[in-house]
Amino acid sequence: REKSRVLGRGRGIASGFSSSSASACQRLAGKVAVITGGASGIGKATAFEFVRNGAKVIIADVQDDLGRAVAAELGGPDAACYTHCDVSDESQVAAAVDLAVDRHGRLDVMFNNAGIGGDAAAPGPLASLDLGAFDRVMAVNARGALAGVKHAARVMVPRRRGSIVCTASTAGVLGTAGIAAYGVSKAAVVAVVRAAAAELGRSGVRVNAVSPHAVPTPLVMGTVARWFPGRSDEEMRRIVENMGEMEGTVLEAEDVARAALYLASDEAKYVNGHNLLVDGGYTVSKTPNM
Ligand code: NAD
Repeated sequence: REKSRVLGRGRGIASGFSSSSASACQRLAGKVAVITGGASGIGKATAFEFVRNGAKVIIADVQDDLGRAVAAELGGPDAACYTHCDVSDESQVAAAVDLAVDRHGRLDVMFNNAGIGGDAAAPGPLASLDLGAFDRVMAVNARGALAGVKHAARVMVPRRRGSIVCTASTAGVLGTAGIAAYGVSKAAVVAVVRAAAAELGRSGVRVNAVSPHAVPTPLVMGTVARWFPGRSDEEMRRIVENMGEMEGTVLEAEDVARAALYLASDEAKYVNGHNLLVDGGYTVSKTPNM
């Protein structure tokens, strides 16, 4: 099945939020956001979307060179800065949040997006699952998101406003044969979001999840390379693109970024505890016995 990227090509064109229209309608004007995992893939696309919509962002990641390059591309210190932050270390998450407050006086949006998959997520049959790798995946994907929620809440609740968005996955709501550790970690992210939304709603702080299906980022390509050894990058990209259910279009990081933008913005002011699936209907399209 041939699919085209044409509908999503060029950041924002598909949804009508081209850079020129965005400047007329800045949905995060004056807001301050921390984006974990912002050096690559979905986090990077979201950093661009947030800055285009008037936010100042702090890219928090472990890939220092990439992270610094993204911050520079975003327009430098006025729009973005980079900080090293391993989300599995609570003190580093706390420091990234404190950097936002020290630099800009507050934190409006926390995007807990950093994650690991591929070999790090111990793909393979359950019978040989490496529980040490499971702990590592949980420490980054699930505990990292929880640490982000905790420290964002620490500075948002006293101001009685803020939006926290966590990247979960369709893998968190589906059975995930062969990637159990990853699936469990993402189900935990959804649970973190629900628990936090229930607790923080009355403080004026919203907490939501965005759950993408397959986007050909380095994280996903790592898993695909293991499943389909010897394929070229282009072949693997096509495999990922064909994992979706929608005819004529493919899921791109920018599509997920726009979903995160919605949840982060005041347009979603009454949306709390929601898991926004960006999956082209994948999770509802599996009919038993057909
Ligand atoms: P990616 O590999 O392009 O980006 C992940 C980023 O997280 C990288 O910049 C990486 O350096 C960073 N990171 C990894 N470990 C970290 C740590 N301990 N501390 C801080 N940063 C760390 O992959 P992506 O697909 O953009 O992943 C972003 C999020 O989206 C992840 O949570 C992933 O699980 C989730 N997700 C991705 C897909 C997909 O198909 N690509 C689908 C569902 C969910």
